[in-house]
Amino acid sequence: MGLLYGKETENGYEPSLWHRWFKPDVSGNTLNGLGEKEVRRPTPLYHRQDYWHPWRLVQDMFYLRNTISTGAVIVKSHLLDWKKPAPVTNNQKERSPADWSRRIEEYAISLGVDKVGITKIKPEWIFEGDEMPETYAIILATRMDYESLSRSRDRKFTPSVKEAMSIYYYGHERARKVADWLREQGWPARGFGNPMGTALNILPAAIEAGVGELGKHGSLICKEMGALFRLAYVVTDLPLEVTHPTDIGVDDFCLRCTVCSKECPPNALSDDKQLVRGVERWYVDFDKCVPYFNENSGCGICIAACPWSQPGLAPGISEKMLKLRKKK
Ligand code: SF4
Ligand code: SF4
Repeated sequence: MGLLYGKETENGYEPSLWHRWFKPDVSGNTLNGLGEKEVRRPTPLYHRQDYWHPWRLVQDMFYLRNTISTGAVIVKSHLLDWKKPAPVTNNQKERSPADWSRRIEEYAISLGVDKVGITKIKPEWIFEGDEMPETYAIILATRMDYESLSRSRDRKFTPSVKEAMSIYYYGHERARKVADWLREQGWPARGFGNPMGTALNILPAAIEAGVGELGKHGSLICKEMGALFRLAYVVTDLPLEVTHPTDIGVDDFCLRCTVCSKECPPNALSDDKQLVRGVERWYVDFDKCVPYFNENSGCGICIAACPWSQPGLAPGISEKMLKLRKKK
């Protein structure tokens, strides 16, 4: 193992000396609530630069390492955060919730967003110490390029991290535009992007909104894009018609498939679901994934390897899984 980079071995990954020196005593899995039976709000743990948390030094290693390849996008993302939102006009437009939801979707798609879901925000999705007073979350999914991401499987991580960070930026920009559009219609709204964490734990919100289903690799999978998309969101009190959770057969497939768990270099993926803050679900071992993720530009091997991500395959896989289920 080296100072800045670890080593892949037959038994997993040996993190760098740097990681060993700076990793906190407290396990990320413990902070995530692994094994906890009660539903509770998540603890902020990673991708938060707005305050101190136990894994902050380890997290910042990721951004330091990727400054050259993605620094411009990170700066652009911060500039977006600092940009003043459009004023909320006094001329508040009235429409039915269904009409608003349809128009929001149409506008987001016209901006380049690939999929939209809408849900009511639940308190258990808000990180401890944060507040999110709005009622609705509009989830925006933007597609990633398969060729760029799949280079990660050959250990060429620069194209994949550049692609991921660019898509995060576009998602963030589009969320801000959707929020501005609502504000111009007289309705307060705020737009947020990732990966710099925000108050809303976006994955459960996106699942509830039907944007995708959780895969074994800890990312969402949908019929249109497989696991090749990134999320941004808008929050508002404007009454909206919500969308609903989807079932395209992802869970049935993941129960039989071991592609991502076999390909994950540090063995961070389990073939069994686990109890996390009162919910049984697929879970990525934080302590195993993070050193590899950090030292290899955000990794992404599991998402690229997932059969649902291969261009054009997801609709057929879904159809097959749902047919198989009916036969049982
Ligand atoms: S991102 Fe990489 S290290 Fe983390 S779970 Fe996926 S394959 Fe494993
Ligand atoms: S690679 Fe297989 S097990 Fe992993 S998320 Fe994709 S379908 Fe599920």
